[in-house]
Amino acid sequence: MELRECKRCLLLQSGDEDNHKMVQQYIAKIRPEEKCDEELYQKRLEICGSCDNLISGTCIKCGCYVEFRAAFRLKHCPDTKNKKW
Ligand code: SF4
Repeated sequence: MELRECKRCLLLQSGDEDNHKMVQQYIAKIRPEEKCDEELYQKRLEICGSCDNLISGTCIKCGCYVEFRAAFRLKHCPDTKNKKW
């Protein structure tokens, strides 16, 4: 799949398989006590997926790949004026 700037897209949706793979490898290294559960993770990604601040898997409010940020139990949405999770 061709890489393109994609509004409200996660990494795979924007065609960025390399970074998706890298993020999955980083997620696999998160300690279990720091990781959020799958249900919460999917809910967070769903919220990001309808947010205008998500561009090609990256949150423009913090510069993080949301798939990585959302995997941490204690992390939160970085939009201080409109925190969504
Ligand atoms: S602002 Fe919050 S909801 Fe929007 S993409 Fe960033 S982390 Fe996700």
